[in-house]
Amino acid sequence: MLTINHLTKTYGDKKAVDDLSLCINPGEIYGFIGHNGAGKTTTLKSIAGILGFDEGEILINGKSIKDKPIECKKEMAYIPDNPDLYEYMTGIKYLNFIADIYGVPSEGRNDKIRKLSDIFGLTDDLGEAIAAYSHGMKQKLAIVSAWLHDPKLIIMDEPFVGLDPKASHELKTMMREFCDKGGAIFFSTHVLEVAEKLCDKIAIIKNGQLIKSGTMEDVRGDDSLEEVFLELEAE
Ligand code: ATP
Repeated sequence: MLTINHLTKTYGDKKAVDDLSLCINPGEIYGFIGHNGAGKTTTLKSIAGILGFDEGEILINGKSIKDKPIECKKEMAYIPDNPDLYEYMTGIKYLNFIADIYGVPSEGRNDKIRKLSDIFGLTDDLGEAIAAYSHGMKQKLAIVSAWLHDPKLIIMDEPFVGLDPKASHELKTMMREFCDKGGAIFFSTHVLEVAEKLCDKIAIIKNGQLIKSGTMEDVRGDDSLEEVFLELEAE
């Protein structure tokens, strides 16, 4: 579903991502962890096609994000770390705008919006301007919009930040269901307990380089993910 081959991205003299290769298959929830400034957001933005990169290739379902950006973007959804949505729009206008862009058929669209918004208790707020939303409400709206067009791959940058406990629980359930139906998710998080419980596979990045990846069992062994992470950070 997602193949990253030798991705390298520099900002001026600084190598933010250094020769990173990773493969994410259908059905997998793949967690991406690393210290502040390790290169997670840079990697995720490169996959989403909103940041160019210097070397390597990123393939979404076999298609290059550089050569076929529109085709790739049709198949994926990206939730950034800050839900900077169009504040002047109402929630419902924003969701219809996103649905129009991705060609979600009008038939059944309202039901879909209602069903997803209901999960997060957001339905009654959809008539309000996004400017009046709290951070968590904006995050919920971004999640609803990502699920709206039935993507095959969802990329998320710290999706649990700002969500209340119920919304976090609902998101975890949605992630599992999405991948059980053949979707794939690649997401970053600093919450190692969540990653440990939720992820099938995990990748650890340090100073732009992938230092460990594989199934949760392989990466963790008999230790906790936190112990493994702290040990690798100390090396
Ligand atoms: P965090 O956990 O704090 O969100 P991260 O793992 O997502 O961090 P990135 O945002 O990808 O890290 O940053 C990786 C490196 O690239 C850092 O050293 C950062 O300072 C640098 N960097 C990121 N964006 C830019 C930019 N626009 N210009 C210059 N350097 C940048």
